[in-house]
Amino acid sequence: MSDKFSMLIGGQWVEARSGEVMERHTPMDGSLVGVYPRGGREDVDAAVAAARAAFDGGPWPAMSGPQRGALLMKVAEKLRERQEEMALRITREMGRPIRESRNEVRETAEVFECYAGRAWQSLSEAVTHVPGSMGLIIREPVGVVAVITPWNFPLLLLSWKVAPALAVGCTVVAKPASYTPGVCLMLGEMITEAGFPPGVFNVVTGPGSVVGDALVAHPGVDKVAFTGDTATGRSVMRSASGNVKRVSLELGGKSPNIVFADADIRAASGGAQIGIFFNQGEVCQAGSRLLVQEEVHDELVARLIERAKSLRMGDPMDPETRMGAIVSREQLDTILGYVGIGKEEGADLVYGGSRKSGGIFDRGYYMEPTIFDNVKSSMRIAQEEIFGPVVCVITFKDEEEAIRIANDTIYGLAGAVWTRDIDRAMRVVRRVKAGTMFVNCYLGAGLPLAEMPFGGFKQSGFGRELGKAGMEQYTEIKSVHMRLTS
Ligand code: NDP
Repeated sequence: MSDKFSMLIGGQWVEARSGEVMERHTPMDGSLVGVYPRGGREDVDAAVAAARAAFDGGPWPAMSGPQRGALLMKVAEKLRERQEEMALRITREMGRPIRESRNEVRETAEVFECYAGRAWQSLSEAVTHVPGSMGLIIREPVGVVAVITPWNFPLLLLSWKVAPALAVGCTVVAKPASYTPGVCLMLGEMITEAGFPPGVFNVVTGPGSVVGDALVAHPGVDKVAFTGDTATGRSVMRSASGNVKRVSLELGGKSPNIVFADADIRAASGGAQIGIFFNQGEVCQAGSRLLVQEEVHDELVARLIERAKSLRMGDPMDPETRMGAIVSREQLDTILGYVGIGKEEGADLVYGGSRKSGGIFDRGYYMEPTIFDNVKSSMRIAQEEIFGPVVCVITFKDEEEAIRIANDTIYGLAGAVWTRDIDRAMRVVRRVKAGTMFVNCYLGAGLPLAEMPFGGFKQSGFGRELGKAGMEQYTEIKSVHMRLTS
């Protein structure tokens, strides 16, 4: 299946002004899956002008919250109707198992539903406790938002930005990752069909170094919401400074998954598996450092190896497959490079470490689940984000040492603690510097994720997506002081 796509600018489906296109070949088996416009700076100018006009002169920012909420709900309905089509595109473009792609579409619909509901609630406040005067603390939409997203959850991470930005009345220019532009353009179709005014949501596809950079530096953009690599995030901050744009950054991680001796080790091994092998380890909050108390080290590592052995790898289109393809040849080479570095540094490779071969594996980019044992916190494999199915096992003696190792990183995105001692769990939760902490689970405890703010400490970024915080970051605060005559 190969499809030809156009970009969405000002309500029109258009080609790049240069006429150039870019092709995407699936990492599953190398076949062509999509042809997209290769946008340039002039396309960014046109999209920003459309978003600017829709914000400055269009009906969108002045519409009531409930009216905007009703349109967001229509998008959620369309996502549910087209779930299978969207899931297929995600899997073909980035190589993950179809089962996970279906979940991503469902979770994206939930994000739109959550913000459809939140659009009914005013974020503004009134100050009324001084006779003769009244204060209003009004939240206004920040304006034109540039949304730049990575490929690892191409639809969900887009929704974390687009749904709250639209809910408060902003207009958007989205720039999806070049490996996975399809679902962003499909979301554009749904937003258009739902009846949003032209120019409220625009998409420009093309290389980050051109389209992303032009958007971030553009004087017509008021805010940049970026998810991606920490190095790219630093450059985004610099480029956005020209007109003092508001910036929120969701960047990389090297999250500690801490297992104490009193934990349920069977459950913890399941958490360790999900933490690093889910989505082939291409997860910003992956539990890529497994910190184990020495008494239970052998048992936990043995259990994790057993789990890695039984993890079903295969054709991502097979609903039974649990680990699919790595997004690209470059990413696979990066992961294999880190395996080499780990061996040179003296860590023990106790499972995996190679590219998977045979059958479909020879036609695409597949990596074995990989476990390094006896890793030291100072090693590069314990410090740098690998973004693949590679876990580093580090042993600790006591709680103090566990916390010291957990915080020995430039990142602070997430972490987990496994223990039956609730006091210890809360001590660790408080002392690990990370934006999300899991207790006796990894990646989720069954809570509605759209309600739980997400973001980083330290060099994992700043700003919070999801929940009320995720909406507030698309607003400016205006204080109004009123003298009343009676
Ligand atoms: P990149 O930083 O390479 O790319 C992210 C996006 O930025 C892409 O759309 C990319 O475009 C674009 N981009 C690239 N260069 C520039 C530039 N100079 N100016 C503006 N935009 C640019 O990250 P990846 O796509 O490789 O994603 C993986 C990274 O994302 C990992 O580090 C991961 O941890 C992080 N991530 C963080 C999450 C979080 O919430 N904290 C969630 C998921 C991932 P193009 O594709 O065309 O290069």
